[in-house]
Amino acid sequence: MNHQQNDIFFLAKELAYTNIDNILELLGLNSYGNRIICPCPIHGGDNPTGFTFYKNKNAWGCWTHHCEEEFGSDIIGLVAGLQSLSRYDAAKWILNVCNGSLEDYDPLEIERKKFLRNNKREEKIAPKIYNKELLSGMDGNVPYFMNRGFSLDILKRFYGFAANTPGKRLYRRACFPIFDPSDNIIGFTGRSVVDQDPKWLFMPQGIAKNQTFFGLMQARESIKQSKTVILVEGQLDVLRMHDFGHKNTLGLFGCSISLDQIKLLGKLGVYTIILCLDPDTAGKEAVEKVTAKCESYFKVYNLTDQLSNDPSKISKEEMLEFSKKIKAISDSTNKYEKS
Ligand SMILES: [Zn+2]
Repeated sequence: MNHQQNDIFFLAKELAYTNIDNILELLGLNSYGNRIICPCPIHGGDNPTGFTFYKNKNAWGCWTHHCEEEFGSDIIGLVAGLQSLSRYDAAKWILNVCNGSLEDYDPLEIERKKFLRNNKREEKIAPKIYNKELLSGMDGNVPYFMNRGFSLDILKRFYGFAANTPGKRLYRRACFPIFDPSDNIIGFTGRSVVDQDPKWLFMPQGIAKNQTFFGLMQARESIKQSKTVILVEGQLDVLRMHDFGHKNTLGLFGCSISLDQIKLLGKLGVYTIILCLDPDTAGKEAVEKVTAKCESYFKVYNLTDQLSNDPSKISKEEMLEFSKKIKAISDSTNKYEKS
């Protein structure tokens, strides 16, 4: 049987639902009713209401130190924090407590369970929204990005910041906030500055990236005016395009597009999509999939083949040449629109 590595996380969470009392007892947490409220046992806080565990969701939060940002706000994160284990070892700890073994499960069966669980979850969980006052600390002064050739101006516009607080999830990362379509901050993403895996990490985990775009707030007006959107894969590709004047560029956070994202483009009045994905195998496959999904609604042009590297990595000279190709498409679309 060929299990994905995240199957163990999924199975641990599933089994934890039916064994939660046993797990909490082993962790030394006593629950009466559906919630546990106590001082945070992970960082050893003294605020008597600093920590909450919700039994119906098997989720928790530490309201004074936000320990969940380091370990994850699910049951695996709670075990990891309390037992000083990695998330992987915490998942194994849970399976052990529940007498569960990955070998007992067919991968297909797990996929079915995931499907059911995800459908349930979508109805229930509203994304966390962060306080906008945080933006004042995001001044764009990020040495890592500046060393890679991004201007302070553009970093300011995207609220770049360097995460330097040890113990926090995004520690030693060069970061940006992520906004939802109503311009609320729903999370953050950070590029490791010391080349640890993964290169880009998101906070919180499971943030609904497929319901927004990177750079939506910054690109909105330009997209409405031009009725044209340039789609790229990565966060730095977006910055690079904006730096060269293509302010109607949005990032997909990867190489697929969701129905929600397609609807968002419709709401913005998009007429033309220009694809500038990474010219590697994954990017070229993505071009076909994204085109197939979008071409009934929009005119789709593909410039991915014209790039020698990811948009964030090509030389200034190449970017200037490439910009002419983008402009040619934008101009011809505008003419068509007017006639
Ligand atoms: Zn705590």
